[in-house]
Parts: sequence; C-alpha cells; structure tokens
Amino acid sequence: MTVDKSPTDQDLPFVWEKITDQLRGDLSEDAFTRWFNGVKLIALSDTDLTLSVPSHIYQLWIESNYLDLLRAATLYILGGERKIHFSFANSDGAADGALCAAAPKRKLVTEQEVEEVEEKPARATNGLNLRNTFDCFVVGATNQYARAACLAVANQPGKTYNPLFLHGGVGLGKTHLMQAIGHHIAAKKKGAKVLYITSETFTNDFIDAIQNNQLVKFRKRYRQADVLLIDDVQFLKGKERSQEEFFHTFNSLFDGHKQIVLSSDRPPAELADLEARLVSRFDWGLTAELQPPDVEMRVAILRKKAQALEIQLSKEIFEYLAERVRTNVRRLEGALTRVASYASLNGSQPSVEKIEHLLKDILAEEARRSVNIDQIQKRVAEHFDVRLADMTSKRRPANIAFPRQIAMYLARELTKGSLSEIGDSFGGRDHGTVLHAHRLVKDRMKKEEKVRQTVGFLEAQLHR
Ligand code: ADP
Ligand code: MG
Repeated sequence: MTVDKSPTDQDLPFVWEKITDQLRGDLSEDAFTRWFNGVKLIALSDTDLTLSVPSHIYQLWIESNYLDLLRAATLYILGGERKIHFSFANSDGAADGALCAAAPKRKLVTEQEVEEVEEKPARATNGLNLRNTFDCFVVGATNQYARAACLAVANQPGKTYNPLFLHGGVGLGKTHLMQAIGHHIAAKKKGAKVLYITSETFTNDFIDAIQNNQLVKFRKRYRQADVLLIDDVQFLKGKERSQEEFFHTFNSLFDGHKQIVLSSDRPPAELADLEARLVSRFDWGLTAELQPPDVEMRVAILRKKAQALEIQLSKEIFEYLAERVRTNVRRLEGALTRVASYASLNGSQPSVEKIEHLLKDILAEEARRSVNIDQIQKRVAEHFDVRLADMTSKRRPANIAFPRQIAMYLARELTKGSLSEIGDSFGGRDHGTVLHAHRLVKDRMKKEEKVRQTVGFLEAQLHR
C-alpha cells in the first residue's frame, strides 16, 4: 500500500507505523524493540525523511545495519525514495555521562550498556555537569593559563581575580572550566551557593520575573549567590533591560566580595554591542583566553576520554582523529564517541574508510573551518587582480584597500585568529584596523548586493 504523498504532521505517526510494520517483518522482535521502539518520524517531504533517535549511537547502528531495509520499507510505503536523516532527541547531552570521571567504572561490553551510558547525562543537583571538573580537564599549552586562573579563583573565591573573564571559540572548554570552579567551591565549602547560568537563562528568568511580578524574588536569588558563573555573555546583546539588570546584579555581588566568573566567545574589548559600563567591569579582574588545542593536547584528550570509556583504540586511530579534528574539543569528543561506540558494538576497531564514513559530517564541518589567512589573501588577491604583496602593504588606493578589507573580513569569519593575529598577518596592522575592516565590509554587504555576492563567492571557494 502507498500512503498519501504529502502527509501533514498529524499523519507522521501513522506513516511511521506503516513503515515499521514493514520493518518488523524483516527483523527479529528483539532487534526491532531495541533499535526502533524509541525512534520517531518527525519530518517528511517529497524528498527527505527525518527520524528522531535517542542518541547518535542509534543512528550509527541503524545506518550500519538497517539502512537498506529502512529504504526499502520507505519506498514501499511512500511510493518513492527519500533521503533519510537523523536527529537526536537530546543532542547536546548525548554523550555527557560517558566521559571522564562520571563514566561507569566498567567495560562497555554490550549494546545495552553503551546505550545506558549514552543516555544519562550526569548532572549534580546544582545543575553542573558532573564531568566538568578540573580532574577531567586536560591541560596543554593553549589552556594552561586559563586553567591556572580558574584554579586560583576556585581556591580563593572573591579574593584573587574578580571577575574572572574566560573567552575563546566554541567547544574549547569555557563551560567546562567555569563549572569546574563551581564544583570545586561546592565541594570545599558546604552550603556555598554556587549559581551557574547562561546569559540566556538570566534573560529569560528576568522576563518571567517581570511578567509575574517576582522581581524581588529574582533579585534575591541572584544577589544572594556566593559564586555566580554566567556563561556566554555575548548573548546579552540587544537585551538592554537584561543588561541593566545584570549590571546591578554584578555590582551587588562584586561589592559583597562574591566571586563572579564570566565567559564569552570574544574578549571584552570586542563586546561592542553591550553597554559600555557593563563591559568595562568585565576586565576589572583577569581575562584569560582559551585557544584551540595543539596536536599533543588533542591526542591527550582523546586518550583520557577513551580511558574513561574503558575503550581501547589503536595509536593510529588516536592520531588519525587528532589530525583530522583540530579546532573544537567538543567535536573531537563527538568523533571519539562515535568511533568508540562502533568499536564497542562491533567488537573490532573500525578501518580508516569506516571511520571516514562514521565521521562524514564531523569531518565536513571541520574542513569548513580549516581555511588559513594565507589562502584567503591569495584567493582575494587573485580575484581582484591585485598583487599578493598589496595584502600586507601600506598602500591605500581604494582598488587595493577594499580587497584587503574583504580579506580581513574573511580572515575574521573563517579562521580562529584573534584580531591582533589577523592584523599581524596583514602587514602589522593593529586590531582596531581589522575590526574596522570587518564592520565596513559587513555594512557594505548589507547595502550592496554585489559586495554580498562577491564575498559569498569567495567564501564558498575557500571552503572547497
Ligand atoms: P565551550 O563552553 O568553550 O564551548 P565546553 O566547555 O562546553 O566548551 O567544552 C566542549 C567539550 O569539550 C566539553 O565536553 C568539555 O568537557 C570538553 N573539553 C574542552 N576542553 C577540554 C579539555 N582541555 N580537557 C577535557 N575536555 C575538554
Ligand atoms: Mg559553553
């Protein structure tokens, strides 16, 4: 039978039931229950189909073992092929409990156990992720300063650096370190009020408090904290009233010598979208940057995580992963979890080809980021037919200055270089020049279709 070609959302469970009826015939009852009971059909179009799965191990398993069956059943029921996608029910915490200290102290020998580990993010009562401790944090050249600052703060909250401001790119350990401070203080001082929140939660709580006339309670909650850990403050951008509220929260805690730890994806100087009086407070204490891990550290992180999972992988696999996933520890962990899950479920280590398949999306995402400034300068110079030397020269005629600004814009967008590193690569310009170039190009992209197209085109070429 074939169901209607364009089902509405209400039809999805019905369609999925039809598809699974087909599948049941081809699978053992046991296998069906294990791998398909928790799966739902969440989107369907003429070309695509998306299944929600409890964690990525389901995707792995279904892809490796049942994809053909699934395709056949889909074809039969829908009367046409669909591209099959997976979405994780709890993508963020998918692998949480499995890694480092919170991992169970035993081998993951059965599918069942891998599933259990995969599905239970371990959280302490104060909302901190249990594995975000100093013990679980691997130290290397690119994060030792930040870690030392955090340890100092954890040992003497409110006394050494206040506030402590952590900044750096996505997935480099800001949340981890900040929560490690929380754990450390909570463990050392019974009853210490450790409050961890993202700036988004702060904003939402604030809005709720206003709407429900609970402002007094809201203020009390935040201002009575002994330690306030506030994550991703860049998201306060555009929220003027939340910023103002936070300004007063900050002052109240600071005056009471309570520890404040902030994190952001960029240094205070670049938080130009936030209120100046707030930002100026951010570097009253100490700022520390987290940078992408070097290769030794990447291997060390992989080893530590594998050890926590009690999974053995060959040296070659560690090196392969460390070589291919460079810019983001979260992604590195994701890659390891997949490979480890595969190894554990199959009882054998995957080949390089298999790993490439398992990590296809991760590697693609990673490749997107691995553009360097040299490549950018070269490509932009070619495109505008100017000399490569003009990218770094002091010459300023418009036919050179604008391509150079575009190159700086792209360097900021596509590489992990800080403003001053980018400035250095452009003939020793200062970070203000880079910031200015970035804004100017962004502005012109908004106003001029042609500029937008050119930049988009260059970006796409660089990603190839
Ligand atoms: P950020 O907040 O900077 O985006 P997170 O703190 O969430 O990054 O880190 C991303 C993931 O990588 C987390 O699972 C974290 O535990 C892990 N991680 C980051 N840096 C390290 C490190 N040096 N050692 C061990 N795990 C790390
Ligand atoms: Mg974070």
